[in-house]
Amino acid sequence: MNNRHLTVIMYHYVRDLKNSRYPNIKGLDVNLFKEQIKFLKKNYNVIRMEDVISASKGVGALPPHAALLTFDDGYIDHFTNVFPILKNNNLQGSFFAPVKAITEHKVLDVNKIHFILASTPKNKIYLLLNEIRNQLIEFQEEFNLNTFDYYFDKLAQTGRFDPAEIIFIKRLLQVELPVDLRLKITNNLFEKIVGVEEGAFSKELYMSIDQIKCMVNAGMHIGTHGYDHFWLGSLSKQKQEFEIERSIDFIKEVGGNVNEWTICYPYGSYNNDTIEIIKDKGCKLGLTTEVAIATIYSQMGDNVFKIPRLDTNDLPKEEVSIPNKWYN
Ligand SMILES: [Zn+2]
Repeated sequence: MNNRHLTVIMYHYVRDLKNSRYPNIKGLDVNLFKEQIKFLKKNYNVIRMEDVISASKGVGALPPHAALLTFDDGYIDHFTNVFPILKNNNLQGSFFAPVKAITEHKVLDVNKIHFILASTPKNKIYLLLNEIRNQLIEFQEEFNLNTFDYYFDKLAQTGRFDPAEIIFIKRLLQVELPVDLRLKITNNLFEKIVGVEEGAFSKELYMSIDQIKCMVNAGMHIGTHGYDHFWLGSLSKQKQEFEIERSIDFIKEVGGNVNEWTICYPYGSYNNDTIEIIKDKGCKLGLTTEVAIATIYSQMGDNVFKIPRLDTNDLPKEEVSIPNKWYN
């Protein structure tokens, strides 16, 4: 019986948190990352993206306790902190960078929201909520908005790693409000609370094209993560096509493998149109944010585009830890 289980682990920020300018950013401390890598090496077999694609074609089987490491959003942390550790351990990581952040030196609104939150002390969240309330009142007529309380009741639900009011702020500014308005409010808050010029902030936050090329040359996998980091499932088919085509062009530009390309859906969001488009363009594998152990087998059909992942926080982070309930 071939082994079919795969633990795909998702990472975002990996940095020396307490010595960074934003120690409150929700990220993994680089020392814990090192420890988790030791833990994984001891208990799992960390494999390459190419191995997963082969297994999904029925060529070769996965080793027992297979794990795949994935890094979202193209942060400079991945080049500076993650890449050397992976290289020293002879491991491959799969990196998914949104094109616009890298090529246009913009800061994605999702990241603006992270740094607005990281710059707001926990006991001052109510000030941020007040600020958002004021902005909603200011734009109420122009955008035909509901009340602050309506949105709060609708969106404030405790998340896996966030309290309800943080989920409210994220959902409101990521997807609920009309796109023009959410950008406007996010920019206002970013200017007021973070106060760093966007171009400079972008260069400090994301990898450069040359850094990504360097990682590709060293055997790392680079996959697509959209152009603008939109929720694909909320876009028209035409807009999704734009997002995906520009992302494939980017893979080509940095020297990645466009024949065996992969996608990691921003926010895990996709729909039937997404699957149709990526299938048509020869995509080999799609990663979601559904929380589960993946099962890889030949003739997966569309399931190869719906691979679930665990968060780094779902697994132990010390070398000596015992594997937990997610052990595959
Ligand atoms: Zn992302």
